[in-house]
Amino acid sequence: MILTDISISNFRNYDSLELDFHPKLNIFIGANAQGKTNLLESIYFLALAKSHRTTKDKELIRFEQEEAFVNGHITTSYSTLPLSISISKKGKRAKVNHLESSRLSQYIGHLNTVLFAPEDLNLVKGPPQVRRKFINIECGQISKVYLSALSNYQKVLATKNQYLKQRNPDEMMIEVLNEQLSGYAATIILKRAGFIKTIGEFAAGIHSDISNDSEALKVEYAPNIKYESDDPEGLVRELRILFAEYLPREIERMQTLIGPHRDDITFSINGFDVQTYGSQGQQRTTALSVKLAELELIRKEVGEYPVLLLDDVLSELDENRQAHLLTSIRDRVQTFVTTTSISDINHAIMDDMKAFRVTEGQ
Ligand code: ATP
Ligand code: MG
Repeated sequence: MILTDISISNFRNYDSLELDFHPKLNIFIGANAQGKTNLLESIYFLALAKSHRTTKDKELIRFEQEEAFVNGHITTSYSTLPLSISISKKGKRAKVNHLESSRLSQYIGHLNTVLFAPEDLNLVKGPPQVRRKFINIECGQISKVYLSALSNYQKVLATKNQYLKQRNPDEMMIEVLNEQLSGYAATIILKRAGFIKTIGEFAAGIHSDISNDSEALKVEYAPNIKYESDDPEGLVRELRILFAEYLPREIERMQTLIGPHRDDITFSINGFDVQTYGSQGQQRTTALSVKLAELELIRKEVGEYPVLLLDDVLSELDENRQAHLLTSIRDRVQTFVTTTSISDINHAIMDDMKAFRVTEGQ
């Protein structure tokens, strides 16, 4: 999928702007606070009808203006489509092929994007919640079964914890809840295991490309419950037994002690843990490889690569990693990159790309 052009008006610090893009690689160069991330954000907004950095749409409208617009054209292997989206006090209006979508859910999905921003480093460096959120979002997009098991699990878990907090908890009731939890937990665990295996294989290939085959990345599921069965019924049986075993301790501690709400993912390079021993560049490369693995997942689902938005990734990668990243990716995926300095850009990638200098929203 290619975003051929974009026109924006009253979006963040942009008054009005029209850009034609290169089908492979586009680089936005500029000093701090000039509007580079705003441009990526406008593309993200055109794709998903929301921002990646705020939930308040109003912030996207240029100061003292009423309405912001983003329009663009995408081409896929079989069609060209105009997309447009606007935000005003009255809300958002989105059009595909000049026809207004009555619901945003109809609009979203025409332009697919994967964004990597500095805060994605938290995927590696941050606490387990960040990784669980990542799995939940990604798995949920692919599997409705996962999404419903997760939401049921969370509801039942909250109820169980309420019971555990009471002075004389109703054990019979908790056993009933444990029975339900076993079923939902088994679905969540098996889906997560499958998803992490797939994304781990893609990420390992990408990491190896970027590091010029010098680093072997392993992405592994670290389930809170160590289990043996990989068939649903067997796993439900195992979980039932474990939950029953833990019940006395849970009553004592007044909370649920085991379950997929405590799962994690681990990353290792050539056998050492990246979170503990990895250099800054290795951690960044790991987070990037895992995010880039999404490109492959989306292609598997949709049949086309999404467009890739890379905010501020070049500065921490050495020249070799940069060159391997951008050359290996741009032939498959249309890429948009921001950087503060042209000297950040490796000469090896200069030939087949378009660069834009960004100064004060121009
Ligand atoms: P850095 O290199 O620091 O990441 P950047 O080029 O990515 O910088 P952006 O985040 O794209 O910077 O743009 C920030 C600029 O946009 C700031 O000057 C900010 O004041 C301005 N800005 C943000 N929102 C609005 C808005 N709604 N209206 C006008 N200007 C805005
Ligand atoms: Mg920025």
